[in-house]
Order: sequence, then structure tokens, then C-alpha cells
Amino acid sequence: MITRVMKPDAAAIEEAASHIREGRLVGIPTETVYGLGADALNPDAVRAIFEAKGRPGDNPLIVHIARMEEIADLISGEIPPAARRLAQAFWPGPLTMIFPRGERVPLRTTGGLETVAVRMPAHPVARTLIERSGRPIAAPSGNRSGRPSPTTAAHMLQDMDGRIPLILDGGPCEVGVESTVLDMTGPVPRILRPGGVTREQIAAVCGACEVDSAVMRPLREDERPRSPGMKYRHYAPAGALTIYRGARMRVAEAICAAYDAALSEGKRPLILALEGNRPLYGGRNCESLGADARAMAQTVFSALRDADEKRADVIFSESVEAEGIGLAVMNRLGRAAAFHIEEV
Ligand code: AMP
Ligand code: MG
Repeated sequence: MITRVMKPDAAAIEEAASHIREGRLVGIPTETVYGLGADALNPDAVRAIFEAKGRPGDNPLIVHIARMEEIADLISGEIPPAARRLAQAFWPGPLTMIFPRGERVPLRTTGGLETVAVRMPAHPVARTLIERSGRPIAAPSGNRSGRPSPTTAAHMLQDMDGRIPLILDGGPCEVGVESTVLDMTGPVPRILRPGGVTREQIAAVCGACEVDSAVMRPLREDERPRSPGMKYRHYAPAGALTIYRGARMRVAEAICAAYDAALSEGKRPLILALEGNRPLYGGRNCESLGADARAMAQTVFSALRDADEKRADVIFSESVEAEGIGLAVMNRLGRAAAFHIEEV
């Protein structure tokens, strides 16, 4: 199959919409990352998503809608009042909420779960495509399983070339990490995966917001996480990644020492650092993570892809405070490093 990459003008979106209606897959720009979309209510189309990604069948998909009314078809029971308030505050946007599954949603879409994850994306191309196709669209991140999520059409093409007919190129993604996954089925909203909408923002609307304990640590071997995606090691670069945490100068000293030691052993080391800290690393091979936590969210996945492209075999990364959007950044970096974190 030839994979075309098209500018998302009206004709391209119509073509994409007919692919969706006919059960095929499309690469879709969203404000979080690029998604691999298909008709969420068509089990064969959904199966094709799992095949193209090489994704384990028990890792559920997020269903994307363009208007609030569409949610009634997807969930069972009423929308909880807290979810209504969160939708008003953060939809369209990078927040996914989990509800009891409506009968029309195939179990294949929910990875066999009796709950369903729903999001209304903000990106105009994603929204227009959902509207024009007339279908809710299931769309996981558009990477092959185990690869960093794509934040440009070119990254998505690297992973999906020959597997899908069309990628809509909407430019680089604004948020850069995936949506916040929030479980709304318990008494207090609980973050299963941190993302573009922060714990602090959710707590400001709902009064309280828990963060699942599996967000910032590796899972125990026999553990069954509430978000099945957490048990898979995502976004792992080929090189061994270590994260350094502590005061700025001590981190720089420790990273320089580890880098120089790796170099003397004949390895190809790489440093991931905040833009303002780059001078601390002298002439060493250093990739910028941007100016602050927001910028780090935008660059973290492409930095990991670049590390692979540069064939780095050891990677040393700075960290940010695990609060606000920094929680999502540290979750993604932490998982890429299998939570190998050096406190200095
Ligand atoms: P991705 O599609 O790559 O953004 O991943 C979607 C994430 O949402 C995965 O981590 C899933 O485990 C999580 N997810 C989707 N649906 C559910 C659900 N019904 N319950 C818990 N987690 C879910
Ligand atoms: Mg993903």
C-alpha cells in the first residue's frame, strides 16, 4: 500500500472521511500527538488499528468526538456532574475521560473493558474529520507499539509507511504529549496517565483529583494497572537512558562525569538538557529539550527519536519538577528510562 501525506485542505479531509466511513485507517493531526484513526464502532476497522500498530489487544483505544451530544451513544448512564464541569472547562482539549461503556462500542475498541475512554480534541483538522465522517473516531497515538509517539507527519510516516493509505499533515503538534487520561467511574477523579491538562487544573474544577500510584514508578511483575497501557514499556530509545534529578549544578556535574566516562569506554553518549543549561555541558554532544516544562512536553518524543537516529548508546537527561505539565513530561521520560533515575 502507498501511504500518501496530504495537506489537510477540504478535498483531503473529504478523502480521509470516506476512508474512515469505509473502515480504513487515517493518520490524523491532533493538538496532543498524531493519531491513527478509524471508525470506533466498526470492529474490523478497530482490529486494523491494532494490527498496524502491533498493539496488544488488551490496550484500549480512546474514542474521539466532535460534539458533546455524541457522547450519549458511547457511554452507559448519565454523564456525571463532575465530568460535565470538566468537559465545559477543558473540551475541546487534551483531556480523556473514562465512563461505563455503552453497548454500541465494541469490546475490541475498549480492549475488553466495560469502560470507554472519550475525548473531544481541539485540533480543527481532527474535529472537521470527525464531523465529515459522521463517526466517532478511535485513535491511539500513530506510532508502532514501543516507539515514541509521533508529533509530526514525518514521524508518523516513519512508523506507518505502507501500512495505511493516508496521513493528513497538520504541522507539528502543539502539546506534544498525549492527553490526560482521567477515570471518572470512582468517587474522586483519578489520573491514570498525566497529560496536557494538569492535576492542578482538574482539582481547581472538581475540588479534588487523585494521581494513580502507577504514574511515577515501574509496575510490579504481577500488577494489573487500571490503565492497561501502563504495563507496556513505551517510547524506549535504543540507548540506555538515565534521568538525573537534583540541584541544577550538581546534575550538570554528574552528567558530565558520566558522559566522559562513557566516552572513554568507547560509547556514543548523548545529553538531553534544557536550552538554558546547554553551556554547562561545554562541547559535549547535547540535544535541547526547550526552555521550560511546556517546551519539554513538545520536544521530548522527537528528542528520543533523534537519540535513536544519532545511534546514541547511552543517554543522560535532565529532569523538571513533576508538577503541572512537568508530571506528564517526567512520566514519559521516566517510562522511556524504565524509571532509572539518579538522585544527585
Ligand atoms: P494512546 O491511544 O496511545 O494514547 O493510549 C491510550 C491510553 O488510554 C492507554 O494508556 C490506555 O491504557 C488508556 N485507556 C484507554 N481506554 C481506557 C479505559 N477504558 N480504561 C483505562 N485506561 C484506558
Ligand atoms: Mg500511545
